[in-house]
Amino acid sequence: TPSRKPIMAGNWKMNNTHLEAIRLVQQLAFALKEADHEAVEVVVVPPFTAIRSVQTLVDADKLQIGYGAQDVSAHAAGAYTGEISGSMLAKLGCSYVVVGHSERRQYHHEDDALVNAKIKAAYAAELTPILCVGEGLEIRKAGEQVSYTLGQVERALEKIPAEQARSIVIAYEPVWAIGTGEVATPADAQEVCGAIRGRLAELYDAELAAGVRIQYGGSVKSGNIAGIMAQPDVDGALVGGASLDAGEFVKICRYRD
Ligand code: PEP
Repeated sequence: TPSRKPIMAGNWKMNNTHLEAIRLVQQLAFALKEADHEAVEVVVVPPFTAIRSVQTLVDADKLQIGYGAQDVSAHAAGAYTGEISGSMLAKLGCSYVVVGHSERRQYHHEDDALVNAKIKAAYAAELTPILCVGEGLEIRKAGEQVSYTLGQVERALEKIPAEQARSIVIAYEPVWAIGTGEVATPADAQEVCGAIRGRLAELYDAELAAGVRIQYGGSVKSGNIAGIMAQPDVDGALVGGASLDAGEFVKICRYRD
């Protein structure tokens, strides 16, 4: 039987200066108990400018909080003004990097080929990608959410070998549920997360598919997380707005209570 430790990741988006980040991580560290860390993996995803401060705090107090970045360049180094490389993030102790968030796809025109290149860049720097996929409202209304999302997964993983893909985290985030307060039903989340696992088994093998953690994201709050986590193919959440409040994020991490 697969052991998939649930992973709760807080995507802070463009919120929190480095000083505010220190305060939020300190609040999380104070509230989270050993039992929480045993039950779930807790990850924060601050803006680039706060990562160094989070690293300092995590290292100094040996916190069991993982952290990562919200984006990574597809390039390793060079004349790419404004971009941040995977090796820069790895040097700051990042374990994870979010790739293909719908806000990057929408506002920065990231397509599946670029997402694929960024996944390769992440692995080249020994970062674990949190690959975001999910359909918009029109596709949901047409009932094509499964085929659309599986297409994104397939193109993102093109030529990614099993040795790398087995560590990936995939976040199913229906665009219509992100930041809207409109959460998918547990059955909606399960339908697509289960289909993603099925496709991983076809692309790779059943053992790999059984080990990959698949998150749900989209207006997750302490009040709706339990039903979503009860689904067999949902192994955590990517949390935006609700991760900015330490008390609320800790409650999400304690969804079993
Ligand atoms: C996200 O940004 O990944 C997200 C799911 O946001 P929210 O929780 O605010 O909907």
